[in-house]
Amino acid sequence: MSKTSELPGFYKLSPEERLKLVQEFAGLGDGEVELLRKTGALELEQADRMIENVIGTTELPIGVATNFRINGEDHLIPMAIEEPSVVAAASNAAKMARPRGGFHTESTPPVMIGQIQLVDVKNPSDAREKILAEKMQILAKANEQDPVLVKLGGGAVDLDVRIIETFLGPMTIIHLLVDVRDAMGANVINTMCEAIAPMIEKFTGGRVFLRIVSNLATHRLARAKATFSKEALGGEEVVDGILQAYAFARADPYRCATHNKGVMNGVIAVALATANDTRALEAGAHAYAAMDGAYKPLTHWERTSDGDLLGSIELPVAVGVIGGATAVHPVAKVCRKILGVQTARELGEVLAAVGLAQNLAAMRALATEGIQRGHLRLHARNVAVTAGATGELIDIVGKRMIEEGKVSFERASSILKELRK
Ligand code: NAD
Repeated sequence: MSKTSELPGFYKLSPEERLKLVQEFAGLGDGEVELLRKTGALELEQADRMIENVIGTTELPIGVATNFRINGEDHLIPMAIEEPSVVAAASNAAKMARPRGGFHTESTPPVMIGQIQLVDVKNPSDAREKILAEKMQILAKANEQDPVLVKLGGGAVDLDVRIIETFLGPMTIIHLLVDVRDAMGANVINTMCEAIAPMIEKFTGGRVFLRIVSNLATHRLARAKATFSKEALGGEEVVDGILQAYAFARADPYRCATHNKGVMNGVIAVALATANDTRALEAGAHAYAAMDGAYKPLTHWERTSDGDLLGSIELPVAVGVIGGATAVHPVAKVCRKILGVQTARELGEVLAAVGLAQNLAAMRALATEGIQRGHLRLHARNVAVTAGATGELIDIVGKRMIEEGKVSFERASSILKELRK
């Protein structure tokens, strides 16, 4: 029997009960469950091998979004995030996508770009010709740097040469295109770019300065689409409201920044859970959103002939399932097992689906009841804790503020004072 990510009432269970269900779904071993259960799973000694000057570790909750059906298969989505409502919103949107088959995704091969900045050439067009004439030799040199990658079917695959105008004059920018397989690829690319730079100088007589990966990974795109039935969304008016919200984002960068932030709530939470480089993803996504010269939504929404809502997303996904911390961080490894993805491409496609779901959920909330209602319960609890509530007082103070319709630090403090009398 195929597995289902539809777990009604999952949110009402205790963390232990949820863990048990996730263990069954993902076939986790007891050791893996223990890693999720215990806090501080990243040992200080291990952390000390990851970055410099280590003095501790930090933690975020990992929630599991339910209901995701991607390309006909059910997935549970681990998300690491401090913001309330994101996991619930993703689950909710994924549920609304199910009646029309869930999410359909695809992606391009995992090709990343390395940039080499060449200056001081007499004639940039000539330099371009010279570099392209030696392309095979340059690619071979790049591939010498990573035999493992080449053996896996990846490696440097092409060169592109651009001439750009800058305030310091024209520059010749070489793009090294590398199929990085299941890695995020920054290290591989940087190593290759540094290795081929002397050849570029020799062939052109110019001087090379920067040699570094580009986070605008336009060759490494993931796409997702889904149809949300008008009934599941709450009727035609809700569809209208969502299209109004989308039109607003398309026309206004102030709104669009928040629109895309909503997308990235989902993308980054999954990236964090799998120990991927979230800054690289953010930089790539926002630069991609501005590719046409104006900052635009990463998603696209339209009404179908049946009156349903069809959404799609396309974004660069520089993520890996190997390399960096992805295969080192103990909890990230378990999260990837829960996700059930084997390759970087699959992970990228999941990110696209989650980003689309998150965007739909945010727009639907905004276009109907407003965002605060969904946020309120957890927000009220957080405010209660900030005001000093502990133990059962957290729920009592939070609930009272919600009943009164006023959630504030001041009110939490005065309720606490009253209760402690
Ligand atoms: P990496 O160098 O740790 O691992 C990649 C290597 O793993 C490959 O070169 C290959 O030799 C080997 N490998 C084994 N199996 C593989 C497979 N199936 N697919 C691909 N490679 C396989 O990792 P990376 O992905 O090159 O670098 C990622 C790290 O670089 C991240 O931690 C990121 O934060 C960091 N970084 C980012 C930037 C940036 O975004 N601008 C810049 C520098 C470094």
